[in-house]
Parts: sequence; structure tokens; C-alpha cells
Amino acid sequence: GLTIVELHQQAGTVALTARATQPSACCPRCTAESTHVHSYYTRRPHDLPLVGYMLRLLLHVRRWRCRNGACATTTFCEPLPGLLAPSAQRTLRLTTTLQALGLALGGEAGARQSQRQAMPTSPDTLLRLTRTIAIPAPVAPRVLAVDDFAFRKGRTYGTILVDGEQHHPVDLLPERSAAALAAWLQEHPGVEIITRDRAHEYARGANDGAPQALQVLDRWHLIGNLQEALARLLDRLRSRLQALLTTPCDGDKGSSGPAPRSIYDRDLRRGTKDQVAQQQSRARRHARYAEVKALHRQGLKILQIARTLEISRQTVRRYIASEQFPEISQQPRQPSILDPYVAYLQERWDAGCRANKQLYTELQALGYRGSIRPVVQWTLLRREQPPEGMQRSGRKPARQVELFVGAETAPQVPAGKPKLPGSQSLAWLLLEEATSLTAAKQQLVEPLKQDADLTMACSLAQRFLSMVRKRRPEELGPWLEAVLASGIGELVTFAVGLQRETVNVRAAVELPYSNGVAEGNVTRLKQIRRAMYGRGNFDLLRIRVLVAA
Ligand SMILES: [Zn+2]
Repeated sequence: GLTIVELHQQAGTVALTARATQPSACCPRCTAESTHVHSYYTRRPHDLPLVGYMLRLLLHVRRWRCRNGACATTTFCEPLPGLLAPSAQRTLRLTTTLQALGLALGGEAGARQSQRQAMPTSPDTLLRLTRTIAIPAPVAPRVLAVDDFAFRKGRTYGTILVDGEQHHPVDLLPERSAAALAAWLQEHPGVEIITRDRAHEYARGANDGAPQALQVLDRWHLIGNLQEALARLLDRLRSRLQALLTTPCDGDKGSSGPAPRSIYDRDLRRGTKDQVAQQQSRARRHARYAEVKALHRQGLKILQIARTLEISRQTVRRYIASEQFPEISQQPRQPSILDPYVAYLQERWDAGCRANKQLYTELQALGYRGSIRPVVQWTLLRREQPPEGMQRSGRKPARQVELFVGAETAPQVPAGKPKLPGSQSLAWLLLEEATSLTAAKQQLVEPLKQDADLTMACSLAQRFLSMVRKRRPEELGPWLEAVLASGIGELVTFAVGLQRETVNVRAAVELPYSNGVAEGNVTRLKQIRRAMYGRGNFDLLRIRVLVAA
């Protein structure tokens, strides 16, 4: 119903003038056809860009008169279905494009992209448009996986509901509370099975909102809880286990003389950027550990401490349980291309050869294929003072590393002796099946088996895993009895917790459903939240998660 009159270009903008030519129009209220024009006017909406130029429409349209005496409308504007809504500033196709941009990139990045694509929009407008996207009303699935996600870690949480069979997100709730879940379940009846973690809120919410539904504990959360219990045990036994690791090594280490130094045996007065950062983060963690201990001594509850310090309850529980500051395990260093030549290098160094170029040439003759850089790094660590030449070239002195040692720190393990990994990773290691461990890991675990408590805990944990993997609910009862009889406090606490909801644990072992589907969606949700910068308001987050699904 529009005829193009002219195309006019001016300073990066194209103006397209068009005239409405329809001989009649229908009243939007009573649908009666009218041929009576009331007045003429011009609308100037933005449209999708034209060959890289911003496009503005100049539409000469009319206001029509409704002749139906029974209709409350006297005049109405030119209907432009599919192109432009009444009183809109943008064409429908531009709005849809901007909504997709806001959905995919969020406000800031989306606005930048809109500039580049010749349809400039502010972040706020983009988000406002994104908010108007209509999302289909959620339908209750047969199997519902319930999980939480953090708006701010340790502080505020929301709930994500996922279809346990189709694996797509069903809805997002702004809080992690029994009331919110119960209300949703009441509004969306029909859920038969609910998989959830062991948080009391979701248990209560499911009981209140869908009492007829079978609640299934999530297997991965169960295994995670088991790992946490094991890690707390490891924290408690730490010094005992470390002793087991180091004692038997004394004999052979002493006889073989000092091990050849490798490129990474760094002089601690000069460290890499990484070492500085590592020590700083360790100092931060140690300070937090001390704070947790202090608040705990003052009698604060775990939840209160977590809220005060804005850390997770799990971390608080771990810190309270461990007698020593729990170290996190360090990644083993990558092998260096210089490694096979370090013994020779040391020999030449001891013989007094200090020239990098000379050493490098000699190594090349021996077959060394790397650059001179590792050689320079190696010698640099062994020089008392930087050589004259380097000082004159104006190079800054190497960074100073202050090794941070807290009062409650674990005793330093002498270099060259194996160090016990952090409790978290060691706990996962102990949960792995012995046959799937690499030789190095097996070597690490082997001496720990001398500890009777740990060995018993491991065998109980393995039994639990195999029961879950092989889906043998009939083994649950005997397993619980065995744990309670073991007297290992950390596992007993775990078992007592399970006993309170035996039915749900049994269902978890028996049925194929798990929250794994929810976890995957939580990961995706985190990525979306990161892309939305500071503007991740809940309604937007919900639209992005549900529409982009
Ligand atoms: Zn009418």
C-alpha cells in the first residue's frame, strides 16, 4: 500500500520517501472499511540500514475517519501491518533485528555492534527492546531438575528449572527458596519426578508445591557431598599423611647426592610474575582462613560466617574442619626443552663457564635444538649480580618475591620430597577407580594406604560409588550401617544426612534421572551472565536463557 516517491542521501543517512496509496482502510476497533480521509501527516521511523547507510523512512500517510456510528473510534491512523506499529519509532523488522542483537550480545556489546551496522542504538534502548521479547509460557515437564545458580557467589542465588528429559531450561526463579519453588509447582501442575540437590529449601518447596511428585536426589550432588566429606577427613589427617609420604624417601634421596638443579629451581629472591601473583593470592586465602577461624571462635554459625565474609558455606566448613591452613595443589611444571642438558650445564657452570653464548654453542653441539632463552634464564638464576652489560642496558632488576608464611601454615616440606596434593584434588583422586589411575598418581596414593582410617574411608567411598554407578539400591542399607560402625566422623555425618532422606537417596541410585542436565544449563547461564556485564537484571537474564535455549 506504499509507493516510493524518492530516495535521498545526506551525510551517511538515506531518506526514503513513500506515500500511502490504499484507497480505503479498516478501523482497528470495529473493522469497518472507510474511504473518508480525515487528514494527512508524515511519519519518520528508523528502518534497517540500506547498503551500509542508516535508513530513515519519510512516510506520507493519512488519518482516516471511522463512519460506523456505533464505534467509539472517530479517527484512526493509516494501518501499516507488518511494517510499523501505530506510534512506533522503529519498523518492526528493525526492532526484531535489534532484539536479536541484544539477546546475543547484551546491552554494551550489542550497542557497539549496532553502531557498526549503521543502526545506532544506546545500551539502555537495546535492553529495553530485549525486555519486550515475548517468551512462551513455561509448561511443566514430567521430570523436573531443580538447581541453584549464583548471582553473586556466596551471597545471592537463583533457581534454574530444567526439563529432565528434553534437557532445555524451563524457567528461572529469582531466588533459592522453598516458597518460590512451591509457588511455581502449584502454578504449573503435572510434574511427576523432581531431581534436586540436598538443600533443605528445595526439599521443602517440592513437598509444599508438588507433594505427589517423587523426589530424587541428584547423583552428582551426592558424589560431590561424599567428596567434600573425604576432603574434610584429609584436612584433619593432613600432617599424618604428609609424614607417610616423606619418611620412606629419606634413604634413597640421601645416597644419590644433590639432585641436578633444573631451570625451575628458582632462586626465591627473584621470581616470575606468576610466583608473585601466586603468593599474593595465597596470602589472601590465608587471611580469610584466619578470619573464618576467628569468627568461628566467637561462636558464629557457618551460614553467618559465609554471609559476613561473602564466601561459600563449603569453604567455611572446610576451614573450620581443618587444623592447618589448607593449601591448594600446584600444577606440576611443564617439562623444559633444556631438561636433558641441565646436568651438563651445571658441570660447565661449576667449572667456571659463565658466558651464555659459549654455553649455548656447546649445548648445540650436543644436540640441543632450543633457543638461547632457556639457557639465559638458567644462568640468570645462578648469578649473584646481573652481569655488567645488562645493568648498563637499563634493564630493571628482577622482581622481589616475598614468600608468605602464616603462623598456622603447614610445615614446609623439604624440596625434592613429594608433597601431598591439596585435600580437594586428593579427595577426587581417591574416588577414582584404582585401575584408571596413572602410574604417577598410583605412586602418590600407594604410601597413604598405610593409614588405616584413610584406607577404610576410601574403601567405603568406593563402595558408595560402585553402588551408584551400578544402580544397586539394595546395597544402601548395609553401606549406611558399615559407615556408622566405622567411627570416621566425616563420613558418619554424611551417612546420617542420607538416612534422613533414605527414600530419595534410594531413588537416586535406582532411577536414571540426574541433575547433570541442570548443571550443563547452569554453565551456559554463567556464560550469558558474563556477557551482560553489570546489567544482568533478572528479567533480562530469564529472557536470554529461555529464548536462546
Ligand atoms: Zn470503528
